[in-house]
Amino acid sequence: PYVLTDRGIFRYEQVTYPMEERGLQFGDGVYEVVRLYRGTYVWLREHLDRLYRSAAAIRLSVPFGCEELIEQLEELRRLNDVQEDAILYLQMTRGSFPRNHAFPAENRPNLYAYIQPMARKTEEMTHGVRTILTKDVRWEYCYIKSLNLLPNVLAKQEAVERGAFEAILHRDGVVTEGSSSNIFLVKNETVYTHPATARILNGIVRTKVKQFCAELGIPFVEEAFSTNDLREADELFLTSTTSAIIPIIQVDETVIRSGAPGAVTKALQAAYRQATQRETQN
Ligand code: PLP
Repeated sequence: PYVLTDRGIFRYEQVTYPMEERGLQFGDGVYEVVRLYRGTYVWLREHLDRLYRSAAAIRLSVPFGCEELIEQLEELRRLNDVQEDAILYLQMTRGSFPRNHAFPAENRPNLYAYIQPMARKTEEMTHGVRTILTKDVRWEYCYIKSLNLLPNVLAKQEAVERGAFEAILHRDGVVTEGSSSNIFLVKNETVYTHPATARILNGIVRTKVKQFCAELGIPFVEEAFSTNDLREADELFLTSTTSAIIPIIQVDETVIRSGAPGAVTKALQAAYRQATQRETQN
């Protein structure tokens, strides 16, 4: 496989970084994950817009333009001859310099991006998944897609150890988001989710769900809800680039309604399928 870097495209084995790399030593960087369905990027521009916003938020100036990056990512896809469902992982750090917390004098970020096959989560999408609740112990800038993922890693591991698919995070009983997803609640045919403040990452799929709701005439309310509200919900679902839209059928020991995916969730899944089909037909 081939990897795109700021210095061009190389073979996977050729790309290595020095020990003193700011991404490795400080988590000083940002990243994106983009979906490919049958070898075509989905919502690439939206992801790159967010990458540039994340970079600006940590005062990292990107030495190449969005159009140039898109061209190179298309070239990467062609070289890898990607035909199947996959994801692109892209990260950018403040570069390799002798270890020192303060910014280096030179602006020389490191960027790399590679594509790896990833099947759709059909089983989870159809039957739904179990989740656990855990404390949101993250910092105040969760709107930045930063490389510092230790709280997310610990939360996900807790979920896995308890036989769950995802950990739902809460701050003093207020649900923010998942460890790597956004969380939605359906009550009386209305969809609720945490507002896109600094407390959450504004997911690309989240913004699409908002659009689908508008198109389908489903009320969409950006209002935080509590862990108690979760247990009383008609439906719950999560979204992310790798997961798409997945029904949640259990939170800790509480089974949500019948334990089967609900009608609103299914309607949104159908809208997602249509939208991604449109994206990959051009
Ligand atoms: N929230 C967090 C903390 C995430 O890591 C992610 C992505 O993995 C999301 C939300 C969902 O974002 P997106 O829909 O852009 O993948």
